[in-house]
This record gives sequence, C-alpha cells and structure tokens, in this order.
Amino acid sequence: MEEEIELILENYRRAGVILVEVRKEATGLIKDGGSLLEVAEFVENNIREKGGEPAFPCNISRNEEAAHATPSIDDQTVFGKDDLVKLDIGVHIDGYIADSAVTVDLSGNYGGLVKAAEAALDEAIKIMRDGVSTIEIGEVIGTTIKERGYKPVVNLSGHGLSRYDSHAPPTIPNVKYEHGVTLHENNVVAIEPFATDGGGKVVESGNAEIFSLIKPKPVRMREAKKLLDEIKNYQGLPFAKRWLPRERLELALRKVETAGILRDYPVLREEEKGMVSQAEHTVIIKKDGCEVITK
Ligand code: MN
Ligand code: MN
Repeated sequence: MEEEIELILENYRRAGVILVEVRKEATGLIKDGGSLLEVAEFVENNIREKGGEPAFPCNISRNEEAAHATPSIDDQTVFGKDDLVKLDIGVHIDGYIADSAVTVDLSGNYGGLVKAAEAALDEAIKIMRDGVSTIEIGEVIGTTIKERGYKPVVNLSGHGLSRYDSHAPPTIPNVKYEHGVTLHENNVVAIEPFATDGGGKVVESGNAEIFSLIKPKPVRMREAKKLLDEIKNYQGLPFAKRWLPRERLELALRKVETAGILRDYPVLREEEKGMVSQAEHTVIIKKDGCEVITK
C-alpha cells in the first residue's frame, strides 16, 4: 500500500516538474502584441513534448476575466500593453494532475493586486499539514487578501485532485466558511486564491471554448459519433473546442451537446468588471507541512 501511494505521488511530482518548466517558458511569451493562441499552443505542445498531457486546455484569462478563457481555433487576439494575464496550466501523467497558475501584469500597474493573491497562497501553504481544516485555509486566504485592500473572489475556489478528476472534493474556499473538511497526509490539493478590486464575485459570460464529457451516451450522426470517440480519449478531463477534428465540427458538437452529455465552461468574469489576479499551486499534504509540487 505504501509503495502504491509512493508510485502515485511520483506521477504527481513528474507532472509538477513538467508544469514548472512549461510555465516558466510560457510566461516569457506573454507580452504586448503576442498571440494568445500561440501561447496556448506552445503550452499544450510543450507539455506533450516533455512526456505529459494537458489536464485541461491552457487557460489565458485577461483583466476582468478570472478563468475558463482559452483561444478559439483561429483566434487572432493579441495581448495588449495594459493586460493583466492569468495563465493557468494543468499537466497530467497517467491521470495524475498538477495544476498551477500565475498572473502576469503587463502594465506594471497592478503589483498590489498580484501580490495579494500570491501572499494569500504563501500564507495558505504555511498552514498546510495533516489535520488542517479547509475552514482555516479559507480564513487565511480571505484575511490576507482583505488586509491588502482587495476582495477575495468568493465563488471561485481551490479543490482536491484525483486521477482524471481536475476538480475533485474537497472544495478549498477563498474565504472562511462554516463547514469544512479536514485534510490528511498524502491528499493532493490545488490552492488558488483570486483577488479583485471589483465586487468579489464572478459571473458567466460569453461562449464556452472548453467542455468536458459527463456521461457517454450514444449519438446517431456519423460526425457526432466520430467526435464522441475523440472526446472519450480525454477520459472526462476538460478539452478545448480547438482540439477537435474540424469536419462539420459545429453541427457535430451541437448534436453531442444536445444529447446532454457535455459540460461547458463559459468564461468567468468579475461581476463589476474589476481586475482579477490569481495564484495557484498544487501541494501534497504531509504530516507536518506540505510538499509544493509546482514550485
Ligand atoms: Mn488551475
Ligand atoms: Mn485549479
């Protein structure tokens, strides 16, 4: 049993090592005039070249967008000189996922906001250990962000990670909640504080470019069948529309969607269009602390 756990944790660590390398290189590509699609494809291809698989499409969310933005197939969008960019990357090895995000401040005007999310993550990591409650984690994150004059985004949260599940229980809130879960040694969790100068809540906006399969069910149309076979390869993990075969894609995707077997992930933006920063690491809980696998 001990050996089995160690083998599993090794997969998480390998995913983490790949993620750190890719994140470092990709961050350097985020600059005024740079293409979002190029960065996303660089991240995803680089993960594969290094022997991993993307655990979800590379998320590039800007300004009031907090999460779930990824370029479309022929996206021409480029970074602007004032963009506040959240780069969120997932890597898996055999289903074992490392998940990490950084914020790149191209204008240099949002240093305080960026630091608020980073400091909240640092403070949370300091209290991670066997027996810590998600109530304590949420409290530390929320307090740290508020002390710095910003608001935590209350309806986004960290989460557990398990095989082929990028959002496993428990929820790790970014504010103090009444009900919590106790974390134990060898639990793998992602902690991801979001800070904003807006209202402190995200809402859905715009079309989804990211989907996941929730329950396979037969579809009739030939292209939809082919599409579903392709989608099954992701084993329930989120995938990008631009990863799919292009043959009659719109129609085939609509057929699969109306069968009720896909979940879509619309872009989440701050309700008052406030600017949003994010910092995220994946950690393995240890007896007296934690091991950060994405540092
Ligand atoms: Mn993430
Ligand atoms: Mn996450």
